[in-house]
Amino acid sequence: MLKNFFKTFLLVELLKGMALTGRHFFQRKITVQYPDERTPYSPRFRGLHAQRRYPNGEERCIACKLCEAVCPAMAISIESEKRDDGSRRTTRYEIDLTKCIFCGFCEESCPVDAIVETHIYEYHGEKRGDLYYTKPMLLAVGDKYEAEIAKAREADAKYR
Ligand code: SF4
Ligand code: SF4
Repeated sequence: MLKNFFKTFLLVELLKGMALTGRHFFQRKITVQYPDERTPYSPRFRGLHAQRRYPNGEERCIACKLCEAVCPAMAISIESEKRDDGSRRTTRYEIDLTKCIFCGFCEESCPVDAIVETHIYEYHGEKRGDLYYTKPMLLAVGDKYEAEIAKAREADAKYR
């Protein structure tokens, strides 16, 4: 009781706090000046989705719907039809990123490496519909970042 009284009277806790602040005041600062500086991210980081094409421009996705079936958040919607050449392709492929939990199951399940998650984290939506990624949007991401995606997939293959 008396000890606590003297501690309070002599502002011991306050002095301890100020000593801690003083110690950190002279230490090297760790604030990152984003976006000029960035923190490193894990090679296993899962960001924005992309749909990939083969080098001849043909889309990889064969509309097997495995990704839609495995998605725990039910974020993927697919519709498909047969083309004249007998192959099946999606007529609609959409991912609702407001539902997605970035678990990576879709890319794990894809037999042709069509749907992948990139390292892109700088995207946003200002209204709900902005994060509803349609097939053209996903293909556009894939087209833009194909070189980076292919390199990342190659590196991943070593651990599979
Ligand atoms: S990352 Fe997971 S939650 Fe998101 S679309 Fe793929 S399977 Fe669904
Ligand atoms: S993205 Fe892959 S898993 Fe999903 S429907 Fe297309 S081929 Fe099948």
